[in-house]
Amino acid sequence: MKMFTCSSAKLLALFSTEMAHTCAFRRYVHDGRLRVSNMFQPMATRQSNVAGKGKELTCKSQRLMLQTGLIRQAHPGAYHLMGPALRAVEKLVRLVDQEMAAIGGQKVEMPTLTPGELWKATDRWDTMGTELFKLQDRHKADYCLGPTHEEAVTEIVAAQSNLSYKQLPIKLYQITRKFRDERRPRFGLLRGREFLMKDLYTFDTSEETARETYEGVSQAYSRVFNRLGLNYVRVEADPGDIGGSLSHEYHLPAEVGEDQLLVCSQCSFGANKEAIAENQTSCPSCSSPLTVTQGIEVGHTFYLGTKYSSVFNAAFLNNKGQPQLCEMGCYGLGMTRILAAAVEVLSLADQIRWPEVIAPYHVYIIPPKKGSKEEAASQLAEDLYDIIPQQLPHLRGEVLLDDRSHMTIGKRLKDANVLGYPYVVVVGKQALEADQKFEVIHQTEEQTQTHHVSREELLHLLSNCTTV
Ligand SMILES: [Zn+2]
Repeated sequence: MKMFTCSSAKLLALFSTEMAHTCAFRRYVHDGRLRVSNMFQPMATRQSNVAGKGKELTCKSQRLMLQTGLIRQAHPGAYHLMGPALRAVEKLVRLVDQEMAAIGGQKVEMPTLTPGELWKATDRWDTMGTELFKLQDRHKADYCLGPTHEEAVTEIVAAQSNLSYKQLPIKLYQITRKFRDERRPRFGLLRGREFLMKDLYTFDTSEETARETYEGVSQAYSRVFNRLGLNYVRVEADPGDIGGSLSHEYHLPAEVGEDQLLVCSQCSFGANKEAIAENQTSCPSCSSPLTVTQGIEVGHTFYLGTKYSSVFNAAFLNNKGQPQLCEMGCYGLGMTRILAAAVEVLSLADQIRWPEVIAPYHVYIIPPKKGSKEEAASQLAEDLYDIIPQQLPHLRGEVLLDDRSHMTIGKRLKDANVLGYPYVVVVGKQALEADQKFEVIHQTEEQTQTHHVSREELLHLLSNCTTV
């Protein structure tokens, strides 16, 4: 009778063990190695297939990401992220989390489903117009799918009636999906209706400290783009419907960029054309000529003052015990947009290039072809697969084994080049020679370098690989 008192978890465990035995017998059990033959990443064989009937491919990153099975369109302006693309996004999230932590940012999560009354309080229910995804619940109460969260976060802080000046500045951020009903979603992940965004909101005691906070966040943003190895420009911007008096945008210069930027050829001045006088041709700070360049907006910073804190009465108690309105700032980074923009600016026409630190996988091992003269080197490839993360813990989970050994090395190498993994290791006939060598192709945004190295040299080379 004891059997019947067994918990469902135990029954499940018994069942799983049973299944594992069956699978082992059928040789289906997974050995934990990341094998390309097991990966679901449907690569297109013909360019005409990827966009779907009647749909246009509008830029390089969209075409490459569709062709390589990294993304798949769900409906206009929304994409499924396949495994490798999600890995890159998760790495970007970790990198941004690190930089937010470095400036005292505290990660929170606010519901995407946002009450309409919050947006009505600031008038943005109407002024955001048709870009807001509005909906009603069964009680006919208005809601929207939040494209940004100034109202919600200000209400949270306003609810703390005894907030002391000693607790400020407060820096709350989240990395969540945002929604915007774009008139014309396009360029794949660059302009979608559903996207991943990092939004930070800061609360300070005075305009002076709020400006210091603004400067601190701006420096954190510079570190994010520098760590990604991306060339960016920071320009003065029009605060638009977010509001406030001080605002900057971060752009990656690219032909498909939808913003026109005026950049000084001599100093660091730059401005979005929208934010500057119509006929401005010389730099306002040094009088040098301004040049026009197209940019993809990937980040935005705003000093908001008391625009939102005054509506919701988000106040703190100052050193005299008197309530005083918080000085606010808000700061966005388009996470999925940064990913696509990086692919857009770094890639070759037919080969993806990643910022090394967020590449989906860092090392791609190609064992010899089955039935070839060097087939005996197959075991060496599996050994390498095991040794790399043992010797280099930062590469745990970062090594892929292209076990499609029915294919030639050349064919698999071509796939690896298209997918843009930073280090491709070919285990060929040189691996069997007395002076054992492995061929390593190191792909960076600037160049492709080929090395013939011993196992120790290979491990040394990989120890320089930057991960997050
Ligand atoms: Zn200048």
